[in-house]
Amino acid sequence: MTINQVKSLESLALQNIRHARTPEELELLRVKHLGRKGDLTAVLRSLGKLDPEVRRHVGQEANRAKEALEAALDEALGALKAAARLAGTPAADVTLPGRRLPRGRLHPLNRIMAEVCDIFLHLGFETVEGPEVELDWYNFEALNLPPDHPARDMQDTFYFNDKVLLRTHTSPMQIRTMEVRQPPVRIIAPGKVYRRDSDITHSPMFHQVEGLLVDKGVTFADLKGVLTAFVHQMFGPELGVRFRPSYFPFTEPSAEVDIECVMCGGRGCRVCKATGWLEVLGSGMVHPAVFEAVGYDPETYTGFAFGLGIERIAMLKYGVDDIRLFFDNDLRFLRQF
Ligand SMILES: [Zn+2]
Repeated sequence: MTINQVKSLESLALQNIRHARTPEELELLRVKHLGRKGDLTAVLRSLGKLDPEVRRHVGQEANRAKEALEAALDEALGALKAAARLAGTPAADVTLPGRRLPRGRLHPLNRIMAEVCDIFLHLGFETVEGPEVELDWYNFEALNLPPDHPARDMQDTFYFNDKVLLRTHTSPMQIRTMEVRQPPVRIIAPGKVYRRDSDITHSPMFHQVEGLLVDKGVTFADLKGVLTAFVHQMFGPELGVRFRPSYFPFTEPSAEVDIECVMCGGRGCRVCKATGWLEVLGSGMVHPAVFEAVGYDPETYTGFAFGLGIERIAMLKYGVDDIRLFFDNDLRFLRQF
């Protein structure tokens, strides 16, 4: 046995290992070369028959070859296993649509609020905002609702004490604005308001937009023109609009504004209680007592005011019959808008 014979044996074995296609073939090669009856094992066993000088060199070479073959077998087995794992993984289907990221959207009440404010903005109104915790003076008294006034019952609210309460409408902003400005005044006041009321059409907290226009020579015709323009932009230009006499302590004369029922087109249904009309907002010419409370001269100035509920508009526009759905935060409901 010579060093060259060991080397050729090693290179033949390495070639076989490289060509092995399965773990089983590798195992057969291991037995063939390194097993108890393997050819390299035979070389190592036969060393004793050699001259001591030759034995040392051939022995070193044979041991090195053995380690090289063991390493090659391990590496080939690892590579075969990795390839098998890869083959077991299902291939990605690149034609599948990607996963969409969940996208937020505006709450229906915020959308309607923005739409309402936008319409009045284009009609030349300016937006003002004020406190939800309000003084009795601004919420009631300055609006011609003295402490013993029976109309206060229509707007029962939550009191902190005799003088401080949660506002029942955004009308206090009329007073707060007129106190610090001289006419002409043209404002809207959007915001949250509170009342002791809760059923399928009333919520203890809801949203309102109040409007006020004061100048010299403002008439009821201006009120009708502005509010008709608003209703037509909000609900569509084909819709019938009517002004119906009503009562509010802070306006005189007062009118409710009705639109033709959006559900039945005016024929009469459950929503419009068979009348064919739906009430959408309250309005009127500013009462002289309100002007006196803020120091305007009612002989010089006239004006009109109006107020509308955002929830009511949203219910009519989207055909929602229970106000509480807006506040339940059920995504199945909110995703429809
Ligand atoms: Zn109807």
